[in-house]
Amino acid sequence: MVDIKKVAGPVQLGEGPHWDPAHQCLLYVDITAGHVHRCYPDTNKHQHLIVEGGSTGGSVSFVLPVESRPDLLVVGLGRSVAVVEWPLDAPDQLTVKPKCVLHGVDDHHPTNRFNDAKCDPSGRLWAGTMGDEGETPGVVDPEKGGLYRIGTDLTITKEVDKISLSNGLAWSSDKKTFYYIDSLTYSVDAFNYDDATGKLSNRRTVLDYKAAGLVPDVPDGMCIDKNGNLWVANFFGKKVICIDPSVGKVVRQVETPAPHVTSVCWGGKDYDTLYVTSARTGLSEEKLKKDTLSGGVFAITGLGVKGLPPVCFKVSPELLAKRMS
Ligand code: ZN
Repeated sequence: MVDIKKVAGPVQLGEGPHWDPAHQCLLYVDITAGHVHRCYPDTNKHQHLIVEGGSTGGSVSFVLPVESRPDLLVVGLGRSVAVVEWPLDAPDQLTVKPKCVLHGVDDHHPTNRFNDAKCDPSGRLWAGTMGDEGETPGVVDPEKGGLYRIGTDLTITKEVDKISLSNGLAWSSDKKTFYYIDSLTYSVDAFNYDDATGKLSNRRTVLDYKAAGLVPDVPDGMCIDKNGNLWVANFFGKKVICIDPSVGKVVRQVETPAPHVTSVCWGGKDYDTLYVTSARTGLSEEKLKKDTLSGGVFAITGLGVKGLPPVCFKVSPELLAKRMS
């Protein structure tokens, strides 16, 4: 039986869940607050990192572990990709400055910021940006962002241009397809993906939210299961949907306790738990009184499906040491 329970939160704009299998904990961010959270669902231990913003803004939009360096994390900090140090035995609350900034992007759009990110099967980091956001969630200056790839040698390439609100990313287990969401296109797209080079080609639509009658739901974060199906958090939609990309159809929907669900990832010992982040952003005081679990992090169990182990950023240790010195 499908069961949903709240494991952490509330936060203002929870996003970017990433399961750390080595330490059996969940990393996620509170974007607007500029915080990273690390929670251990088995023991209820919870750590909280406050990242001091730099010249490109104080939002922290994503968090990904660095391969073989459990004390280092790569984060989206405003329009920068930065490295922060956060030892596993840190106190419950810690404030840090970034150890170094790896890259800054979108200099010609100073009010852009990074949003969702993930590592591809070869450990390259993919991170997208979004245009200036107003007070209303999902309303941004359109087509001002990009999707960037940072190689394990730290070279950066803009792989997709004219992005409005970069969000969900997922790779098929055969490493041939990349799934991607620019939220404001209201669609889940696929590209051919070349794992040797990281190049994308042949963009096409997997699911058009308008045609599928899902609007006003906005597609946000996404992950993939062992069967190759996509799980997408529907902001405004109070649900997570499962899409079979081979037929471009919604095959399952799971209602969530919060209307503004932002992202999903697989975690737990066998990757059989779907962790879901959510936001309080965009909800009136009145709505928040009713939707009391908004901003919570939830664990969905009993889905009968499993995910795949997540990938860390496999940056060259020598290069990283050089950048941090
Ligand atoms: Zn998102």
